[in-house]
Amino acid sequence: MNDADYVIIGAGVAGLSAAYAPKKRGATVLVLEAQDHVGGRTWSGQLEGAEVDWGGEWIGEGQPRIYALIKELGLRTFPTFDTGKKILELRGQLSTYIGTIPWMAPWKLIQIQLAIWIIDAWAKGLDMALPWNHRNAPEWDTKTLESIRSRFMWSADARATMDAAIRTIFGSESGELSLLHMLAYVRSAGSMNNLISTEAGFQHERIAGGAQSVSLAMAKAVGEEHVRLSQPVSAIVQDASGVTVTSASGQSYRAKRAIVAVPVPLGSQISFSPRLPALRQQLMQRAYMGGAVKCFVRYENAFWREKGFSGEAASGDGPVSVTFDQCSEDGKTACMLAFIGGKFARTWHRYAPDERKQIVIERLAKYFGPEARKPIAYAELDWCGEQFIGGAPIAIFPTGTLSIHGASLREPIGRIHWAGTETARQCMGFIEGAVESGQRAADEVLSAD
Ligand SMILES: Cc1cc2nc3c(=O)[nH]c(=O)nc-3n(C[C@H](O)[C@H](O)[C@H](O)COP(=O)(O)OP(=O)(O)OC[C@H]3O[C@@H](n4cnc5c(N)ncnc54)[C@H](O)[C@@H]3O)c2cc1C
Repeated sequence: MNDADYVIIGAGVAGLSAAYAPKKRGATVLVLEAQDHVGGRTWSGQLEGAEVDWGGEWIGEGQPRIYALIKELGLRTFPTFDTGKKILELRGQLSTYIGTIPWMAPWKLIQIQLAIWIIDAWAKGLDMALPWNHRNAPEWDTKTLESIRSRFMWSADARATMDAAIRTIFGSESGELSLLHMLAYVRSAGSMNNLISTEAGFQHERIAGGAQSVSLAMAKAVGEEHVRLSQPVSAIVQDASGVTVTSASGQSYRAKRAIVAVPVPLGSQISFSPRLPALRQQLMQRAYMGGAVKCFVRYENAFWREKGFSGEAASGDGPVSVTFDQCSEDGKTACMLAFIGGKFARTWHRYAPDERKQIVIERLAKYFGPEARKPIAYAELDWCGEQFIGGAPIAIFPTGTLSIHGASLREPIGRIHWAGTETARQCMGFIEGAVESGQRAADEVLSAD
């Protein structure tokens, strides 16, 4: 006797989207989540009355599924605060600018623009669903993004600007990122501009109540009794009539099919019987999570706004790669976000907690003035230390992975189906991609039975 028609492993946006669609169509579902909360990489909290998103938070144009879901769940969004001067820090020097393009000597800007053009042009030629089928895929997958960075950007400032962006978007360094993965990511996002822009880009809006509210609302709609928390799945056995999924506590659940919606590398911690094909097993072993730390600083008032700053600063120097205004929608609860990505995130834990706070506050003081030295609260989340996520914001596919193992990203194996933002065709790596992947996996199981 089955416990549900479908069992879903992981209660992030992907897993809950995979559960929500069949539930609406009358199927029974059971979601098993390792942690004591739903939402996965979208996790919202409070810092002295300020709502903070420890994980994913922004959504924007070109992301129809998450907007439709938000509407359906009775949630809403509000625009990201984007008014005023922005700051760019390169080799210790600060410059300010308005809009998307930083102020820089034209010949440096041309190098950045050239790299963006090349990435966009190459990405455009990829099939969004099957980027590994492109005739140049094997070659691109032998190179990293560093091949573009060092070839077309001979200015140290242009390179450092790209570093700030790559650390923020991928939680990675250019030399780690397969060029094929980068191009597939840009293809699935539409353009580089979508990735980096606030106005009309993917940072356009925030979700009122925090991004986790999407998962909380889906869990409620699925039925909280069908979402079991603190159930890390350790084994999945499939046979001719169904799957048996066992959690680390020894509890077993039976269903017709399983949808695995955990970050790709974490799939390798689950034991599958019969053993998965080597291509899939190695895909999970080869992928690894990026590095990201989100630090929030709560202030009495948004002093940067009063001084004409938007709160956005980008730094090629590190350790902070970007800062963003994180005030409440009405601007009355003042909060600032400092994002640490790539190699700086991976080594952040080496500093003592007080040192970390001091480093962040001194960066903010440098960018926005001495008022930054008077915070009322500070808190951070280092995603590299999260046992059931393993890093952030996304999984990185190193060279030689997507061109060889990519085809196994979404391909069901018997009664096991795959979801999770890294398996998305559109907006891979984003909340939107998580929704898309969950809905696609739901369609698969519903049409299989
Ligand atoms: C710091 C940070 C900033 C980001 N910024 C943005 C942003 O601004 N905009 C945006 O669109 N995206 C952003 N993202 C990415 C976005 O949050 C993710 O793409 C999305 O939330 C991924 O959803 P998912 O369901 O695919 O995976 P996850 O959210 O990782 O969900 C997977 C779930 O599986 C669970 N799990 C793992 N192993 C097991 C197991 N063995 N058994 C049971 N459960 C298990 C995990 O606990 C987790 O809950 C950010 C992410 C982070 C962390």
